[in-house]
Amino acid sequence: MDRQIERLRIEEDNYYVQDVRRFEAYKDMIQEEVQEDKRECFEFAYNMSYAKIGAHRDSRSGGTIHRTLGQIFINTFQGKMAEFALYRYLKNHQIDVKKPDVTEYGLGKWDSFDLECQGKYFAVKSTKFYGNLLLLETKDWSDNGEYVPNSSSGTVKYDYIVLVRLKPDGEELMRQNRLLYQREDEVPDDIKELLMEKICGEEWSYDFPGFIYHSELVKAIEERCVIPQNAMLNGKTKMDADNYYFQAGNMHPMREIYIRNINEKIDERASLRLKRKCPNCGKTLVLRHGPYSWFWGCEGYFGRPRCEYKETLRD
Ligand SMILES: [Zn+2]
Repeated sequence: MDRQIERLRIEEDNYYVQDVRRFEAYKDMIQEEVQEDKRECFEFAYNMSYAKIGAHRDSRSGGTIHRTLGQIFINTFQGKMAEFALYRYLKNHQIDVKKPDVTEYGLGKWDSFDLECQGKYFAVKSTKFYGNLLLLETKDWSDNGEYVPNSSSGTVKYDYIVLVRLKPDGEELMRQNRLLYQREDEVPDDIKELLMEKICGEEWSYDFPGFIYHSELVKAIEERCVIPQNAMLNGKTKMDADNYYFQAGNMHPMREIYIRNINEKIDERASLRLKRKCPNCGKTLVLRHGPYSWFWGCEGYFGRPRCEYKETLRD
C-alpha cells in the first residue's frame, strides 16, 4: 500500500526533517568488487567532467547555481557509485540485473542514473551519509510522475525510486582539498592523479534507507509535498530549486523489492516484486512456510533432479 507521506515540520521559511533513519553501512560486499566499481565510477566521472568527454550540463535542471568541473565530477562519481551499490545489492539477493552503464552519453541522459531489472525501472538517487531526504526537482517531473528530461528518449516512468547514502561526503572531501570550487584555469595538470588519491583512495561505504513507488511520487506531486527554492533546510542548507521530498524514515525498506509482506492478505504490489534466482540451479526462489517460520526455497524442490536450496528470511 502507498504510504501516507509524512510532512516536514515547517516554520516560516524553515523546513525540518522529522522522520530519520540512521546510516548503517551495507556489509555484504566483496572488497574486490567494491574496488573495481570504484575505479569504473572514477573513470566515468573523470571523463564526464575534467576530460570533457561527453556533454554535461553545468547547472542542475531547476537550479541557478553554476557547477564547476569539481562539482560535476563528484556529483557524477557519487551518482554512479549509488547505481553500482544498488546493482550489487540486487546481485547479492540473487536478483538478475545488468551492470550499470559507464559509457559516456550526451547531454542530460547520463545523470538520470537508472537501472533496468526484470522489465522494471529504477531511478537511483544518492545523498550524503547524514542525509534523510529523497529530493526530486519539481521541474523534472510531469503531473503524472514522468521524468521530463528523458521524454524524447529513455526511461520516463520509474517503478521504484531508490535512495542510496554514501560515506564519506564527497563534496566535503573535494572542498577540503580545494578542488570543489576551482576555476577551469586553476586545474593542475596532475588533477587525475590527485583525484585518484584523494577521492578514489578513500574507503567508500553506503546504505539504503529505502525506496518509493511510482504511485507515491504521483501522490507527492498531487499533494504538493515540496520544499520551495530558497527555503532553509534543517537550518543549514538553502534550497536552490523546488523539490518534492520523501523522508528516509518514511520510505519502504529495500526487502520489499523482492519480498511481499507476509502478513498482508491482499498484495496489490505483487506484480512489482522482483524474482530471485536459485544460486544452486537457476530456478526461481519462492517463499515457503515451514513448521515454524518462512524461508526461501527453490522451485525445483519438487522437481527432478530435486534442488534443496534453502535460505532463511533476512534483509
Ligand atoms: Zn535450485
